[in-house]
Amino acid sequence: MYQLNFCAGPASLPESIYQALSQMVLNYHNTGLSLLSFSHRDQLFAEINNKIKQHLRTLLALPESYEILLMPAGASAQFAAVPINLKQNGRALYINSGYWAAAAIKEAKKFIEVDTIEGVDNVIDHIVDDYDYIYYTENETIDGVIWQKIPETNLPLVCDMSSSFLSKPIDVTKFDLIYAGAQKNIGLPGVTVVLIKKALIENIKQKAIPAVLSYQAMQQADSLYNTPDMFAWAAMELVLADLIKQGGLDVVAEKNARKAALLYEAIDQSKLFSNKVSLHNRSPMNIVFQLPSDELTAKFLNFADSQGVYGIAGHRSVGGVRVSLYNAIEFKAVEQLVSVMREFETLNA
Ligand SMILES: *Cc1c(COP(=O)(O)O)cnc(C)c1O
Repeated sequence: MYQLNFCAGPASLPESIYQALSQMVLNYHNTGLSLLSFSHRDQLFAEINNKIKQHLRTLLALPESYEILLMPAGASAQFAAVPINLKQNGRALYINSGYWAAAAIKEAKKFIEVDTIEGVDNVIDHIVDDYDYIYYTENETIDGVIWQKIPETNLPLVCDMSSSFLSKPIDVTKFDLIYAGAQKNIGLPGVTVVLIKKALIENIKQKAIPAVLSYQAMQQADSLYNTPDMFAWAAMELVLADLIKQGGLDVVAEKNARKAALLYEAIDQSKLFSNKVSLHNRSPMNIVFQLPSDELTAKFLNFADSQGVYGIAGHRSVGGVRVSLYNAIEFKAVEQLVSVMREFETLNA
């Protein structure tokens, strides 16, 4: 039986949230109804919708000039929604920082002309005024790389924060659009948070936009254009309430930094494990590391599995090991993982 789950997504949630959700499925707040089968037009669901928005405003001190949209079909749908909605002159600048940025670029090219810059932490100094927006990915979930510095630009700045959203405080005012799929830090697959400047929505000129991907249609419908994934919304409401209860994003960030420091220290002290990301760009969320050979990597993954550790094989595109330390992971779990790593190293010295 697995004891520890470091899956990159869907990520594990606190036990208390699984319990609350189970209860909601069986009998939602003593209504005699299941969360899975009352109307999304019901007042019961309007409450979930309103609470999610209140929680996000509280956690982020979100100004009224930003709209909160809850969109379907995962972060990948935003790869298309962003260019489809924001296209004005027809050209955008994308920073290619890794796997997910590349996926966003590939999708965007179907709808808009794309210029790219390679790398992370680029200072955007050659601003061309006719870019409709500048796009980057804050945390590259597969490559284990994070941006520390927000690009300086006067153009609309769009950021995919799927795997770092609410893991630390965010200065939302630096961005025009932030989006994040819920299943990394804030819940379950099925809902994507979009924070967008109201002025940017007003400025949308494109007409031929599928309604479920349209920021204007979603804004008008209060995110209920059609039947949403109600279970995922309810889970997110619980996760956000829990983050507030924990003390907010400063507290969450401190806990996440301690967890990451512990694991990176164990890797750096080890003769067997190594991490190749530059110190400045090491992700606190997804920690990737290598062993000297594919054979040893496979041996380690088997050993970890036998010790009850789930979800640490690197993404199929890169191999190696990847440990995801999203908000729900406790410090204690990282300590346990480190002792499994040390034991393996002793056995294979
Ligand atoms: C997981 C992830 C995605 C894709 O999310 P889906 O919900 O599966 O579409 C996109 N961007 C980043 C940074 C991610 O971590």
